Amino acid sequence: MERNDGLGVVFLVGAGPGDPELITARGMCRLNSCDAVVYDSLASDRLLALAPENAERIYVGKRAGRHSMKQEEISRLLVELGRKGKRVVRLKGGDPFVFGRGGEEILALQEAGIPFEVTPGVTSAVAAPASAGIPVTHRAVSRSFHVMTGHTLKEGETLPPDFPEFAKLSGTLIFLMGLGNLHPIVEGLLKAGKTADTPAAVIESGTLPQERCVRGTLGTIEERAREAAIGSPAIIVVGETAALEMKSSFRPPLAGVRVCMTGTASFMDRLGRSLAGLGAETEEVSRLGLVSHAGEAEMQEAYGRLESYTWAVFTSANAVRLFFEGLLASGKDFRSLGGLKLAAVGRGTAEELLKCGFRADYVPERYQVEDLAAGLAELAGHEDRLLIPRSSGGSPVLNEVLAARKIPYDDICLYDVSAEWREREHLAEWLASADYLTFASGSGVKAFFDGLSDGERKALDQVRVVCIGAVTARALEKAGRRADLVADSFDVPGMTAAILKDVEKR
Ligand code: SAH
Repeated sequence: MERNDGLGVVFLVGAGPGDPELITARGMCRLNSCDAVVYDSLASDRLLALAPENAERIYVGKRAGRHSMKQEEISRLLVELGRKGKRVVRLKGGDPFVFGRGGEEILALQEAGIPFEVTPGVTSAVAAPASAGIPVTHRAVSRSFHVMTGHTLKEGETLPPDFPEFAKLSGTLIFLMGLGNLHPIVEGLLKAGKTADTPAAVIESGTLPQERCVRGTLGTIEERAREAAIGSPAIIVVGETAALEMKSSFRPPLAGVRVCMTGTASFMDRLGRSLAGLGAETEEVSRLGLVSHAGEAEMQEAYGRLESYTWAVFTSANAVRLFFEGLLASGKDFRSLGGLKLAAVGRGTAEELLKCGFRADYVPERYQVEDLAAGLAELAGHEDRLLIPRSSGGSPVLNEVLAARKIPYDDICLYDVSAEWREREHLAEWLASADYLTFASGSGVKAFFDGLSDGERKALDQVRVVCIGAVTARALEKAGRRADLVADSFDVPGMTAAILKDVEKR
């Protein structure tokens, strides 16, 4: 993006109606790469989490007890941030221009000469009814829809002069910010000629998990909304389509399930996609960072005597990647591996090898270090020599089995893992509200539990812990916690299936 005179840019972004998945692709993109987010009450925490960790987050809305910023102050803040050269996302509920006062902010930016961009959003005016099963138009039933604010209608005050014209429209009438004035709205519509049997609905928190909808007619809707104690934010829909029932009949199997994940960035990315595809909400709580020791003496010596080995054994995709990177950095190339057989613990590891142009000679049927050890014990003998470049926290099972069979091997520390926390202060809270917590390696378990506070440990009691395999489960047990679920296959589909099966059972 062009930057002129050190000026920043303000992205006015529609956040969508509530469900964080209903932001646009461009809105998400702008959030991903901003320096500051200016948001108000309707913005989801999950959207705020899309901004880089070090981005400034500035709350300007109304929330119980706290004074909200005046519109002029918000506009001034945006101009100021823009002048400082920041990439600012101004996140607004629904669409920025639908009763969002986005226009006022644009005028201030234009006046100050700050570059801006508008990204429309899915407005609640359409999305909340849709989520509740009410289409805003329907062939032969409603040929138009009209969105108006119910805010300016104060009880006891006469309705705006053009209200009778609104009321006479045959299409669907949609009121935002109207819940507090439901009575004068209903009364005004009846007075203007709508009949008491005209269908009506009120939708609270549309598209969010706590969504509620009451249906009725102009004659009954007030009482029904009162009985159900419908609260804000709410939308009022009046017209024939308010009687239609078109609520999504498909509910993804993991809808409403929250999963906290740990692991490497690439693993969590894959697992997150797999779970989100089934409707789960996912949170990356700690990311495993890898520290390569490929350049250190031990690995360098191993690279120097590759011809003395008959097998190279890989127990993770990371080991493959770092091993090959280190090999090239050491001045050698892949030809020095020509005489070696290659073993991989599982599919992911074998695929990583394939990416480098090598087919694994051996992959156990079940992706576990035990099975890998047992298989190698069959395939290799005293005359062989195995190179096992892996993390320092690797499972001792492999060494035990090979030693028992008197198969020579070098277990060399290729890398270490350390946990990098995402917003550590929220960890206990995230764990407490989660259904599952996932671990994808023994070293990941170790890195997670190192330095866990008592409170965080306690929060673990309420969550079901999922391990990718038996070795990870054993590491967990060592850390003082039993695994609730262990995946049948040592990969993303295996972990996904374990959670799915558990949810279906409960
Ligand atoms: N720009 C927003 C509207 C802002 S005005 C948009 O395009 O959606 C705020 C009003 O929007 C609320 O008073 C309420 O009437 C409505 N609203 C916003 N989100 C809502 C939701 N999830 N469910 C029901 N009404 C909602």
